[in-house]
Amino acid sequence: MPFSEFHGNFETVHRLREMMSRDHLPHAVVLAGGRGSGKYTLSLMLAQALNCLNPPNTDGLPDFCGSCANCTRIGQACDLDARFAEAVEARENLRETDKKETRIFVQTHPDVLVIPPDPPQMMIKVDQVRRVIATIYYRPAEAKEKVYIFTDSAFMKEAANSLLKVLEEPPEFATIFLLTENSGELLPTLRSRSMTFTLAALTGEEIEKDLAKHHPEWKPAQRELVARLCDGAVGRARNFDLEAYTAARQHALVILNSALRGGEHSEPFKITESYRTGAEGREKTEGLIHTLYSLLRDLMFVDSGAPELVRNTDIATELKRMAESADFEWLTAASDRLAEVERGMRRNLLRSLSLDAFAAGLEK
Ligand SMILES: [Zn+2]
Repeated sequence: MPFSEFHGNFETVHRLREMMSRDHLPHAVVLAGGRGSGKYTLSLMLAQALNCLNPPNTDGLPDFCGSCANCTRIGQACDLDARFAEAVEARENLRETDKKETRIFVQTHPDVLVIPPDPPQMMIKVDQVRRVIATIYYRPAEAKEKVYIFTDSAFMKEAANSLLKVLEEPPEFATIFLLTENSGELLPTLRSRSMTFTLAALTGEEIEKDLAKHHPEWKPAQRELVARLCDGAVGRARNFDLEAYTAARQHALVILNSALRGGEHSEPFKITESYRTGAEGREKTEGLIHTLYSLLRDLMFVDSGAPELVRNTDIATELKRMAESADFEWLTAASDRLAEVERGMRRNLLRSLSLDAFAAGLEK
């Protein structure tokens, strides 16, 4: 996936590649931009371009092949949510004592380390920065350039201060990317030692246009739906599993509708029964929970007189009808209960059981 696959922000990408071609890419780069603006995707692409074993040249600038050993392994980190969830799950399975000392990292290449915020506080912790310090001064083993990607600017104070020391004397063979939605959240001393590039999020129309190319089989209403669900994140929109989403949403609507009407149990129970344990069931249940959240949020928007913020635009009429019986209090209670189901899933409670309890507990 070369740079031409990166949608939007052409000038910024061009500038970064130009700096790379002159060997002037700064050792610390802040990529700032809203959710879905492509900060993470771009940082991985730059990591690939820095390390590609058969680097092609496009538009007279360095690019990457996407298929050599370095490109492939670095590219495996591209689904950050999935890699992060795997790392968290691996930690969950450790012994209690080891759990406390283990920090979350995503690493698919020995010389490229992705540092996400560490749960449950979802902050970058000092132990994570210590891992950076412990490795950054050794020459890369298989890459040309070591790359560190901090995916969020929520640093604990001690962590930020430790990172500052690295930025004061970075080795010549390492590049650190700091991703942030708002560069103001970074310590001014960190910012002053980095160069900041800002990425603009794509508008819904731009994404719809892109989807028309990548998914001509989708109807315009479906493209609009996906664009809205993906918050300006074009990569996510292109890979969106519309079929799975539509199926999950159908289930979510039955559960919510029967709770709002009251008294009718057989239909939702038939649905929750189909959500089994095991990896596949887990994914399916997560999809359902995600969809339930998205519907509850939309109902909240309708209730509060902001229908223009609704994401499931293709079922706007149905949402409007549902919102008539779903008041603010009920919606808040439903969101709380859903959070409980999520917590239960993390503790591996039987999925269908906790979904049943959710459905029954919502009844008016
Ligand atoms: Zn390559």
